[in-house]
Amino acid sequence: MAESIIKNVNILTMNADKDIIEKGVVVLKDNLIHDMGNEDLLSKYPSDNIIDGKNGILIPGMINTHTHASMVVFRSLGDDVPDRLKRYIFPLEKKLVNKELVYLGAKYGIIEMLLGGVTTFTDMYFFEDEVARAAKELGVRGVLGETIINFSSPDSEEPYGGLDYCEWFIEKWKDDNLIIPAVAPHAPYTNDKHHLQLANKLSEKYDVPLMMHVAEMGYEYDQCLEEYDMTPVQYLDSIGILSERFISAHSILVSDKDIDILEKRKVGISHNVGANSKGAKGVAPITKMYQKGMKLGLGTDGPMSGNTLDIVTQMSLVGKIHKLHNKDRSLFPASEILEMATIGGARVLNMDNEIGSIEIGKKADLVLFETDSINMQPLYDYYSVLVYSSNPSNVDTVIVDGKILVKNKKLVESNIMDKVKEQLKMIKNNILEVSKEL
Ligand SMILES: [Zn+2]
Repeated sequence: MAESIIKNVNILTMNADKDIIEKGVVVLKDNLIHDMGNEDLLSKYPSDNIIDGKNGILIPGMINTHTHASMVVFRSLGDDVPDRLKRYIFPLEKKLVNKELVYLGAKYGIIEMLLGGVTTFTDMYFFEDEVARAAKELGVRGVLGETIINFSSPDSEEPYGGLDYCEWFIEKWKDDNLIIPAVAPHAPYTNDKHHLQLANKLSEKYDVPLMMHVAEMGYEYDQCLEEYDMTPVQYLDSIGILSERFISAHSILVSDKDIDILEKRKVGISHNVGANSKGAKGVAPITKMYQKGMKLGLGTDGPMSGNTLDIVTQMSLVGKIHKLHNKDRSLFPASEILEMATIGGARVLNMDNEIGSIEIGKKADLVLFETDSINMQPLYDYYSVLVYSSNPSNVDTVIVDGKILVKNKKLVESNIMDKVKEQLKMIKNNILEVSKEL
């Protein structure tokens, strides 16, 4: 296949030195970054297939390290209900979640992520095979975990039925080029020790990620202390399931000792600052984690929790909330926040040798921000403009695995988007009716 070229862009490589190439050129071949450098490269690669970046900012595709994309169909319902997960979300899902809804929601959610510059997303939900199907059809990269939980769920009559589904799901997708199947026990308080260990065994057997909500809820923390006289992190370590395959979402209620354990076990941390602040759950101590060089990425959590699926919004919140919380405006310069959104997320997923930075030989997952819009000027500092001034609607072009999926701010296959919007309209009234009964 002939090369395709992206020219006239300011490249934030996010490599180890955070090199920036102004008026840069990136050469793509097949699904990889084949070459990159300054404008001299244009004479080396005479190609008809040229994207003019119009002095925009080119960054590695952003990585959402924790979400439940399909829940977008419920977004804005019951936003201010206290103890919402148990009182509202679980009953709502019990009544409404089925294969079709998961597939439709995943499609909608993935489209929203793509338009906001997310090229890899990490998901945990029921009927995860439907999420994989939607991701594959849209061409996005996904690390997708089937939920394992101690009660009857939408895709399994029996408690913990997710374990069998999960093994079938892993077998089905394990050799795919875009989908990485994973095991997703919901949380320490919705799984017993035996099933957590079985989930870990499954993850070990297939060498796939094990992802879980950890140290997120006050009642989870209290329950662990009461039953085991340990914090949630210490409990999970005591049963032997923390490893470098483990992705810990939230990790808010963690002590210094817990952070040491997470570091020692090389656990990846998904920081969900938007969802955590809206849910009044607390501020995860990521300053310490970042200083220790731990694997740290950003997540949106489900769209009922954070109400957005893009990482651009998260970046701005990371800066603002941690500076405020620590009363220190020098914390987390914008370049470090973009690091969490890109290569940091790739480290969490153990995929940093493939994605997360713009370097020769890596997968061609790229996002181009236009700089023409009024909010993008003046442009003195690329990182600062991206983190604090930009919004998802400044994303102009998105490439995943060498394929252009978003161009001129629109999904290239626009008919898919129209259809999905139409289908969502059709089920909206039913969802509203059911939600009123809760
Ligand atoms: Zn979550």
